Amino acid sequence: METTAALTGLRCTDCGEDFDPEAATHQCPDCGGILDPTYDLDAVATDRETLESRSFSGIARYADLLPFPAETLVTMDEGATPLVSAPDFAERLGVDQVLLKDEGRNPTGSFKDRGAALAVTAASEHGAETVALPSAGNAGQAASAYAARAGLDAEVFVPSRAVFDTKAMINVHGGEMTVVGGRLDDAVAAFRDAITEEDWYSVATFETPYRHEGKKTMFYEIAEQCEWESPDHVVYPTGGGVGLVGMAKAARELQELGWIDDGPAFHAAQATGCAPIVEAFEAGRAEHEPVEHPDTICGGIEVADPGASRLVLDAVRESGGTAVATPDDEILGAAVDIAQTAGIEMGATCGAAASGALELADSGAFDGDETVVLVNTATGNKESDILRSHLMSQGI
Ligand SMILES: *Cc1c(COP(=O)(O)O)cnc(C)c1O
Ligand SMILES: [Zn+2]
Repeated sequence: METTAALTGLRCTDCGEDFDPEAATHQCPDCGGILDPTYDLDAVATDRETLESRSFSGIARYADLLPFPAETLVTMDEGATPLVSAPDFAERLGVDQVLLKDEGRNPTGSFKDRGAALAVTAASEHGAETVALPSAGNAGQAASAYAARAGLDAEVFVPSRAVFDTKAMINVHGGEMTVVGGRLDDAVAAFRDAITEEDWYSVATFETPYRHEGKKTMFYEIAEQCEWESPDHVVYPTGGGVGLVGMAKAARELQELGWIDDGPAFHAAQATGCAPIVEAFEAGRAEHEPVEHPDTICGGIEVADPGASRLVLDAVRESGGTAVATPDDEILGAAVDIAQTAGIEMGATCGAAASGALELADSGAFDGDETVVLVNTATGNKESDILRSHLMSQGI
């Protein structure tokens, strides 16, 4: 298995033990904790000037800060998504600038491609034949696409309520799909049952050490696009928190490298109908308590039992951020607002970042001169029926 010069190994986020990525493929062999890639940042050969001299293309341009060298990456030039201004929304929030990181412009229409690129690279390097995962839809679509590219099979477990587009595209990419009645938790349970019987390589979130690692690139890009001056706030539609944990790690690395002075405050935005991170944040707890009856139309963030909540809450608190929940009608309303004022097709789920930012503004979180980044984790196209139905509920 070929790794980059800077990668030093995988560290367990629970017991602190270090492992060789050749041998440790998933969770901690000692305690079952989440493994996290570690680096010797002195061994990073790239600097800001070198990056700026390269064209702003996919995630491979940051390969020195990733586990696998550019030559072995299973990549479709995912990443390099634009950071687009939304001036009307900035006025609504009462801040200097709102920038949308438009992850809808990825190969399969969501930021899940960044994690899939690294996780499928690892699977391929470990000699896997079949990758498998439970997914609310987007991650399964991304894994199927990257597996196809790497010549691997994909087994995806989705809940019946996953949106039609993602289910269709899993099959179009040649993935095997098991549709499980109910919600994400039911798909997770069916996946766990099935994988014990099969020789599948799990690319489930936080089971592979590489999906959150791939999401680091989202913040590398944001920092570079802001000319190495971090935005003040990043608001992120949070389910399992994979993207937030990855971005917060990237911000720490960039500070350690001396490429940025300060990191942003990372805010976790959830839907009121499923907000375990917000509940734990507000109660001052280190970990979440599972939500018994999750209920939100935003499938991408309906994660009732986020296994890495400790890492998410740590990242939010260390960055000086907060956690905020808003109801579905406000989430969909905010996504439509962005579509009608900024033109950007915001996913229904992603509207939580916009409505969450409005809630933060109401609670006095902003002074007036800040730059606020909203992460549009997926294209509005995939959830057009949900967005359109919201208009219908208003008689439009
Ligand atoms: C997966 C997903 C999320 C949540 O991602 P996490 O990093 O697990 O919190 C948010 N939005 C969309 C569109 C998603 O597909
Ligand atoms: Zn451990």
